[in-house]
Amino acid sequence: MHIPFDNTYAQLPAQMFTPQLPTPVEAPHLIATNAELAAILGIDPAAMKGPEAAQVFAGNRIPDGAAPLAQAYAGHQFGNWNPQLGDGRAVLLGEVVGTDGLRRDIQLKGSGPTPYSRRGDGRAALGPVMREYLVSEAMFAMGVPTTRALAAVTTGEDVTRETRQPGAVIARVAQSHIRVGTFQFFAAKGDIAALQALTDHVIARHYPEADGPAALLDLAIARYAKLIAAWMGLGFIHGVMNTDNVSIAGETIDYGPCAFMDAFHPETVFSAIDQFGRYAYANQPGIGAWNMAQFATALIPLMQDREQAITEFTAAVHRMPGLLETAWLHVFGAKLGLANPTEDDRALINDLLDLMAKDGADFTNTFAALAKGDARDQFVNRAACDVWTQRWRLRRSGDAAAIMARANPVIIPRNHRIEETIQAGLTGDMKPFHALLAAVTKPFDPLTTDRKKYARAPSKDELVTRTFCGT
Ligand code: AMP
Ligand code: MG
Repeated sequence: MHIPFDNTYAQLPAQMFTPQLPTPVEAPHLIATNAELAAILGIDPAAMKGPEAAQVFAGNRIPDGAAPLAQAYAGHQFGNWNPQLGDGRAVLLGEVVGTDGLRRDIQLKGSGPTPYSRRGDGRAALGPVMREYLVSEAMFAMGVPTTRALAAVTTGEDVTRETRQPGAVIARVAQSHIRVGTFQFFAAKGDIAALQALTDHVIARHYPEADGPAALLDLAIARYAKLIAAWMGLGFIHGVMNTDNVSIAGETIDYGPCAFMDAFHPETVFSAIDQFGRYAYANQPGIGAWNMAQFATALIPLMQDREQAITEFTAAVHRMPGLLETAWLHVFGAKLGLANPTEDDRALINDLLDLMAKDGADFTNTFAALAKGDARDQFVNRAACDVWTQRWRLRRSGDAAAIMARANPVIIPRNHRIEETIQAGLTGDMKPFHALLAAVTKPFDPLTTDRKKYARAPSKDELVTRTFCGT
């Protein structure tokens, strides 16, 4: 298998990573490959199905030109500082410049221990690999910046989590795997040379329009604000917005106990480890600003006049809530078919969300129904819905239908469906996974007969309210 590697991270100062080969596994078996993504990366899509692919994506065979390494980073986990994290179960194989001119990382996750593994086994379980594959590809299909899934393999080895599970590796693709925590790692060590090299690398790679750390901060804040607004518009809950899980390129990364809401409630939390709801749906914007404050803090040591930088960077972070509010208004405005939403429309949007929360209306299906003209069926309190609908009809734009069709997916990877495919996967049946993947990667297409079951909200018996990061 030929992968046209062109590695740049491996040229950075040695303290930023550790050269690290994946640990071979017993019996690699391909369970999913992404031919369309392979083509963008300059990999022959036919080779993705060939005998070598399982070996390559399991980490058993290192393709020519790869320079495998584990990246160092730190991070705030649930608000607590951890100076030493890093790729504990992942290796970066290398980078490729795609047919679209964009540079991307190819990383194997679940590829064995590294110097950053701490007490972990360096492995990933099949369930979380399936979840990441499905959700990241669904996010891409819905137009949300995200890492993507290139391939997944089972390893033929078991891993021990709450229970024993088949082990798996996911090959994922990102604009880079550089995180807020990567900056924090060197800032905390006082390693200004590495911090400067990292900053230069990130500017050249992701923000070439930035002329220094201040501009980088502004641009990263703007991208992250848009990203979180996009999550909000889909009812997506990331679940672990630790600073080590915040991509500097502004992509959704590190799909762990993430999930999409069924019934709308702003305080919804899925992650079993998020006891206090730090990363609940409605807290995501505030946590986003908190994360950017940590990024700003990590950039301060690069500045000549630190006092002035603190003033400037504080102002930049304080602009994030406003940017997010604006992005949110546009996201939800589009969901309601408002071409040019104004401040006055906030009440219209919030009143709908209030009704939905009171009623436990299904988030995705309410907006999908509105896109067809009427969400009455989604409500128990139909009278209240009717009153709101009257207001909305007076306000929505002439081209509302077209705007709404692009803003409101009819199929998302619902938690109970993901869980169902994982249960089948654990018994060796990947058919439900592929059927769900096919459905969620066409989120805006009409609901043909075979797709209807993926749009249906879970019944009480089917509801899955807890997710696990599976680390
Ligand atoms: P995560 O919660 O997956 O974002 O991981 C947080 C940190 O723990 C990262 O440094 C991971 O590399 C590390 N980690 C998670 N799971 C494992 C594992 N099974 N083995 C080694 N390191 C892990
Ligand atoms: Mg992580």
